[in-house]
Formats: sequence, C-alpha cells, structure tokens
Amino acid sequence: RSFDDFSVDQSIIKNLIKCGYEEPTPIQKQAVPIMLEGRQLLACAPTGSGKTAAFLVPIIQQLKSPQNSGFRALILCPTRELASQTQRECVRLSEGKGFRIHILSKINKALNQYGPKSNQKFDILITTPNRLCFLLKQDPPAIQLSSIQWLVIDEADKLFEDGSRSFRDQLDQILQACDNKDKKIAMFSATHTPVVAKWCVHNMPGLVRVTI
Ligand code: AMP
Repeated sequence: RSFDDFSVDQSIIKNLIKCGYEEPTPIQKQAVPIMLEGRQLLACAPTGSGKTAAFLVPIIQQLKSPQNSGFRALILCPTRELASQTQRECVRLSEGKGFRIHILSKINKALNQYGPKSNQKFDILITTPNRLCFLLKQDPPAIQLSSIQWLVIDEADKLFEDGSRSFRDQLDQILQACDNKDKKIAMFSATHTPVVAKWCVHNMPGLVRVTI
C-alpha cells in the first residue's frame, strides 16, 4: 500500500510527501482506511509509529473544508508538549485546506473566546483534558462541543494510568458535551491496557481493534 491507495485528496498526499514521508507506516496502513469508513477504532501503537498522522489524515479528509459550525474534531493529549507536536503535524498535513486549528493554551483568554456569542469559529481543537474540563465546568460552559464529529484520545494508556477515576470522570464530562449522536471515537494507546480496552468496549459500539 502506498499513500495513493488511501482514498484521500491529492493535496493531503502532497502534504505527506512534503513532510518527507515516502510510504505509510504499518499503523497508518491499518488505521486510515478504518477511520475513513467512519468506524470507531482502538489502536495499539507506540510513539514513533506514525500514529499522529494515522488519525490526522482521515480526519482532515472527512472535515473537507472549513465550516462555521464550531469545533468538529477534538484531540485529547496527556501533555501540553504532545498537544503542541500534534498541532504542528496537523498544520503541516492540512496545508492548503484553510482549517482553523486551535490549541487550548491560555485559560483566561479561552474563557471569553468560545462562548455562544463568540464569532470565532474553529474546526479542530487540540488540548489536554484538564484545560478542556475547566472550561466545561463553567456555568454556563465556556466552550461548545456539540458539533464534534471525531474525538481522538491519544496516548490513552497515559491518560488512564493514574488508577484514580479522575480521567474517566473527565472523559464522561467531555462525552456529555460532545452530544452529537453520530460522533466517532478513535483511541490510541501505546500498550495493551485492560482499563482502556474495557472503557472502549462500553463506549464505542462496533469498534475495530488494530495492533502493530
Ligand atoms: P508519531 O508516532 O506520530 O509520534 O510519529 C513519529 C515520527 O514519525 C514523527 O516525527 C513523524 O513526523 C514521523 N512519521 C509519521 N508518518 C511517517 C511516515 N509515513 N514515514 C516516515 N515518517 C513518518
């Protein structure tokens, strides 16, 4: 399989090649077609496997062009550093599409930024769960997620790892806010983690599992 076998726009393939990628990595070969079909995914793929592009390519393809409906893809990362790396990859892979890609960084600024009266519309949101939940906890919530079509949980084993219920509670809160019934979830985890698998079985009907 080469990038040309993916059913994605030539502009995306050009961007992949511009990044210096010559052919899809194993996780990209597996995950891209599954997500393009709109199927929910639990992928076991370590850092360094090309997992970021594996979820960004199908999302960029499916969002097609910028819209004014509010955030349509949400990517949750365990750390700000990973969120920044993901944002950089997203900017490179979507070059020419004109998407508005936002990383949640300054909470004070964010409190005024996304309310219902705000006319700033973004397509893709990349954040850590803590920052997002802080905004969701405001009364009324300081961010709207009802247009989310794809929720990606990256490095899920790290997010679930502390053993406490804190991330699961945050995820419940986030899912409640992502109340579009057609939204899909893609979960990426570096290791096989029973707690992650169990959560997926309960929350992602029809999920496909891939391991590399
Ligand atoms: P990740 O697993 O997403 O952290 O990616 C690890 C590294 O692999 C990043 O530096 C990417 O830029 C790079 N990468 C992603 N996809 C490919 C590819 N198809 N060919 C070569 N390098 C890639």
